[in-house]
Amino acid sequence: MKKLGALLLFATTSLHAGEWITLHEHTGKCHTLVFSPHPDDDVIGCGGTITKRVAEGKRVAVVYMTSGEGAGSAAVREREARKAARHLGVHKVKFLRFPDGGLSMHRRFLGAVLSAIEELRPSVIYSPHGDDGHSDHQVTYRLVTQALQSMPGYTPIHLKYEVWTPLVQVGHLEDISGFMSQKLAALRMHVSQVSQIAYQDAIEGLNKFRGVMDGAMAGMPCTYAEAFGK
Ligand SMILES: [Zn+2]
Repeated sequence: MKKLGALLLFATTSLHAGEWITLHEHTGKCHTLVFSPHPDDDVIGCGGTITKRVAEGKRVAVVYMTSGEGAGSAAVREREARKAARHLGVHKVKFLRFPDGGLSMHRRFLGAVLSAIEELRPSVIYSPHGDDGHSDHQVTYRLVTQALQSMPGYTPIHLKYEVWTPLVQVGHLEDISGFMSQKLAALRMHVSQVSQIAYQDAIEGLNKFRGVMDGAMAGMPCTYAEAFGK
């Protein structure tokens, strides 16, 4: 019985590996595609921007490179990711289920990133920035950059978000003052993670700093902002 249970669980969890899962029914072209190395990076780095785009009527998709099994159960983390993404209004998600902590420039990973981009051909793509302190984040940036270089004639905007390491040079600032509470609520849905580290406190502080300081420098002071590298 136990064995059968384990088999059934395996069958269920592997059913959608690499397939799109619809969270909100939609038609038409996807505008924004977010690459998230682990469940929760999407919310931390650009959750305010995601929900702002949705409020503008644009369609948003998220690809999770790994299911974050290095910091909890993959099944639990995927469930939390779906719940948080749905809360932000994300239309569809895809779990690639590559090994947490094991991303590299291997063609298997590059091919999956390329496929996701080719399937949607979005106008804007988000990934972590290349100087992030976590190797999976750096590699995700490099995989997206290399995939785009292999698609001549297709030139989406590629913006790079902050997670573990704040950017030194901010290339784009997004005022998320009206969306901060929704972002923090989505982040708190990653219960297994915020119970270990108070990410919500860290990101509220960083987004406040970006709004006040970078906002002032850009001539658009605001309460909360997300910063991106170009
Ligand atoms: Zn991460």
